[in-house]
Amino acid sequence: MSAPASSDLSAIVENIVATMAQETHRGKVASYIPGLACVPVNKFGIAIVMADGTVHLGGDALEPFSIQSISKVFALTLALGKVGDQLWRRVGREPSGNPFNSIMQLEAEHGIPRNPFINAGAIVVADVNLAGHMPREAIGEMLRFVHYLAGDESIVIEEDIARGEAETGFRNIALANYMRAFGNLHHPADLVLGCYFHQCALAMSCQQLAMAGRYLMLDGMLPGSGRVVNARRARRINALMLTCGHYDASGDFAFRVGIPGKSGVGGGILAVVPGVASIAVWSPGLNENGNSALGTRALEMLSEATGWSVFSAR
Ligand code: GLU
Repeated sequence: MSAPASSDLSAIVENIVATMAQETHRGKVASYIPGLACVPVNKFGIAIVMADGTVHLGGDALEPFSIQSISKVFALTLALGKVGDQLWRRVGREPSGNPFNSIMQLEAEHGIPRNPFINAGAIVVADVNLAGHMPREAIGEMLRFVHYLAGDESIVIEEDIARGEAETGFRNIALANYMRAFGNLHHPADLVLGCYFHQCALAMSCQQLAMAGRYLMLDGMLPGSGRVVNARRARRINALMLTCGHYDASGDFAFRVGIPGKSGVGGGILAVVPGVASIAVWSPGLNENGNSALGTRALEMLSEATGWSVFSAR
């Protein structure tokens, strides 16, 4: 895949920002996590980091937002570094075709979550990352990992968001206890959930997020820092993002956008064009599947304008 000239890409980004500013159907801001309900729906940001390090920013690209489930990509990367392919004994690799917090599927499949990007799967991943640590240390390790990936130590975890979710996340509490009953959670559910809620409460801007995704664009290499994962692992994480990154709308995202992407209920999406670009978009209004309405539309516009798609020879 090739990259358009830098000036063309700037024009494309400007056009996307202008188009999104006109949009009247902006979706609904998630309200089930107390701290998210008050985020203004008119926000839109986009950041593109190219393989050569060039950065294109548009709209509210520098404003931090709650990355929520996008953190599952970084947590998975950490967990694979700890236990490697053994992780796949406890978590599957298939799209779920069910809402991100479904308990029925977990029952039918004996406590083994379908993939690491639905909540149950991410809770198992958090359990893996907790092994040998106190929760505080595991949360600190996660934060330091994201600092390293983004090359930015100003990134924080929003305690109030984590606390709000701990107080209202009854379904996640149920999922965790359910898996504990099946023996697929090795630590007490409240400790694992503490870690999970904190990783979801990472606040990052589009620019920081696109920077943090560079290793997935570059076959596992982080410019200036060396290797995060080997090329095969980077490829596989991208494959999971493509097939499972958008809850039960992952197929539709692959159809419409055609590149690996992971969304979160904070309205962010991290998307990767292997070898070419790491992209983050943010708009807090969600569509009926819980994915950023404008973020998805913006990525669709971007892939149309650039020809970027893992299904294209262009
Ligand atoms: N912390 C959220 C939850 O567990 C993450 C959901 C998401 O972004 O998909 O409900």
